[in-house]
Amino acid sequence: MGHRPGRDRRISTHVALAARAFGADGIIFSDYRAKKTKKSLEKVNRTWGGSFFVRGGEDWRGVITDWRSSGGVVVHLSMYGLSVGEEITKLRGDNILIIVGAEKVPSEVYELADLNIAIGNQPHSEISAMAIFLDRLFEGEELDKDFSEAKRKIVPSNSGKEVEEVND
Ligand code: SAM
Repeated sequence: MGHRPGRDRRISTHVALAARAFGADGIIFSDYRAKKTKKSLEKVNRTWGGSFFVRGGEDWRGVITDWRSSGGVVVHLSMYGLSVGEEITKLRGDNILIIVGAEKVPSEVYELADLNIAIGNQPHSEISAMAIFLDRLFEGEELDKDFSEAKRKIVPSNSGKEVEEVND
């Protein structure tokens, strides 16, 4: 939420990249049409696999209401929230909408969320908060996720870059 045009495009793309890499299915921007971010993520999907989606320019109240009416859980990440370590076990297996802000998030979001969760009580960023939340949620297993239909796969190496070309 709250993408600031001109200032946040790189950060918004990085939130999307981190969400994809750490196991989310997609991202919805409420205040940003996200055309360029969508294009970059489509390119990343084509090369590195998976079907991560990017939606943009949506009304956040509508997104929250739809999510909840389809049985999903809404989690807002905020340094003022409850401890992630104590709350995360309740969330495993749920269909979760995770909300992060680029700037001050309206107080209504704190009320609409099922849970307000802090990744520590110090300020950091939407990228780190999202990444750590997902890593705690998936207990590290997301790092071994297989991204389907990748054109390229990394061969882990301690020296240089080794890449395997696949699905040609
Ligand atoms: N300075 C702004 C403010 O305080 O309103 C923006 C805060 S921060 C740059 C942007 C986002 O990062 C927040 O909306 C929140 O989602 C996330 N965030 C930052 N620190 C966090 C923390 N300790 N725990 C959870 N989320 C955090």
